[in-house]
Amino acid sequence: MTEHVDVLIVGAGLSGIGAAHHIQAAFPDRSYAILEARDAIGGTWDLFRYPGVRSDSDMHTLGYRFRPWTQAKAIADGPSILRYIRDTAADAGIDRCIRFGHRVIGASWSSTESRWTVRAEHDGATRVFTCDFLLMCSGYYRYDEGYTPEFAGTSDFRGQLVHPQHWPADLDYAGKRVVVIGSGATAVTLVPAMAETAAQVTMLQRSPTYIMPVPSEDTVANQLRRLLGPRRAYTLVRWKNVLVSTLIYQLSQRRPQQMRKFIRGLTRKQLPDGYDVDTHFKPTYQPWDQRLCLVPDGDLFRAIRDGRASVVTDRIDRFTATGLRLESGGELDADIVVTATGLQLLALGGLRLTVDGQEVALPDTMAYKGMMLSGVPNFLFTIGYTNASWTLKADLVSEFVCRLLRHMDAGGYHQTTPWPDPNVSPAPLLDFQAGYVLRAIDGFPKAGSRAPWRLGMSYAHDVITLRYGRIDDGTIRFTRRSAQPGDAEFTGTVGPGPGSEQITA
Ligand SMILES: Cc1cc2nc3c(=O)[nH]c(=O)nc-3n(C[C@H](O)[C@H](O)[C@H](O)COP(=O)(O)OP(=O)(O)OC[C@H]3O[C@@H](n4cnc5c(N)ncnc54)[C@H](O)[C@@H]3O)c2cc1C
Repeated sequence: MTEHVDVLIVGAGLSGIGAAHHIQAAFPDRSYAILEARDAIGGTWDLFRYPGVRSDSDMHTLGYRFRPWTQAKAIADGPSILRYIRDTAADAGIDRCIRFGHRVIGASWSSTESRWTVRAEHDGATRVFTCDFLLMCSGYYRYDEGYTPEFAGTSDFRGQLVHPQHWPADLDYAGKRVVVIGSGATAVTLVPAMAETAAQVTMLQRSPTYIMPVPSEDTVANQLRRLLGPRRAYTLVRWKNVLVSTLIYQLSQRRPQQMRKFIRGLTRKQLPDGYDVDTHFKPTYQPWDQRLCLVPDGDLFRAIRDGRASVVTDRIDRFTATGLRLESGGELDADIVVTATGLQLLALGGLRLTVDGQEVALPDTMAYKGMMLSGVPNFLFTIGYTNASWTLKADLVSEFVCRLLRHMDAGGYHQTTPWPDPNVSPAPLLDFQAGYVLRAIDGFPKAGSRAPWRLGMSYAHDVITLRYGRIDDGTIRFTRRSAQPGDAEFTGTVGPGPGSEQITA
């Protein structure tokens, strides 16, 4: 049996629930459904259950534009974020439109029908859906497996080896010696959280990361909320935080040496006198060449000051029965080793796409405005910013979808396709030097050397182009189903893809 909806959303995480909210509010009469592979709402915020899991951006920008974040803490814990997403879904009745346990595996576009046919695995069978618009909100990484480098001797280790993506609910680390391998956001979250009850926690890093302390509560936000009420305060604080984070990012790009000095000054203040800041907190790259790690109220530094946590900068030679041997010859004893070594990126939830019978190789496509694919009709995807909160972009993508649908309604169009420009040269979709990006970026669509193909990383710029800019910009093309190329009444230019001819009547 095939079920048809106007808009099909893949993924019930932060982006999918947000997208459903926008579409439902803008088009109460349109049908939509969300297909979700797991049995829960929340995506990232349901999957990750390690101690201390939290955001490292503020919730005034990680929250939805349409739903003020009203809690005192701006850097929020994972369960609070999950509750926020679930409440958003429940309050708007979005949860009734989610089909859990549906893993989308393939989608085929037919230009004759102006329609997607989407296949999903459910309970060992294949379910088929059709839709006019397909919106991928499937995140950016594999859910079934995190990334663990090959370490020699892991089978010799008699302690417990844990990856943060698969945290055992019953893991008891009280009084134990813990080594956390890694220096990214997950490692710097885990170390102070586990140090509260563990005997000792060591963060073992190959190389340092920029780590900046931030207050977990935003006093300006909390006072404005009392004065102006939640909605007006939220809008103001959102812009305040966008401006501050843009300023930090721009300074990092334009004046990296000054920014290095500034972060180093903050770090020194947080650590005991004589601490070897250069070895453990002086990265070799420039600020924001990789994501800047924020630590609320300097909790990581406090744990180091209190002697409950320490940092070792070295390389692993091999695991031993009792812990780790390091290349320097040192040994670290451990009862538990946590491999906070990252994610495995995955483009579009592993979906296989075909357009009019032809398979779409993602690396051969180019991303239009960072949310549509060249030659792929009626298809949008959400990838957030790497230098700002994810939801800022996710909200804009959803708003753009609504504008696009309105434009198509007004013109009586059935199909819209970004048309590739042979004069634009391809560039990596994410210009970001983090290891997890470099490992996988070849499997992703490309970005282009100039607008609208360059992936913008400026929220203010995207507000202008996505919320207010022209929809019909000459790069995306619109067609009507009744008027196929060659028909006398055909009036537009036509997709669906690269290699097709441009036809005007
Ligand atoms: C530990 C951690 C902390 C983070 N902290 C921050 C932060 O502080 N700030 C920030 O901006 N970003 C942060 N991020 C990035 C984070 O992923 C985004 O903020 C946001 O949660 C992404 O939401 P999403 O809905 O787009 O994707 P996800 O949360 O990944 O949700 C995707 C959903 O799609 C489903 N899905 C995937 N493929 C398929 C398929 N083929 N069929 C059906 N369903 C599918 C998944 O099961 C999942 O439910 C963090 C990420 C991690 C891992």
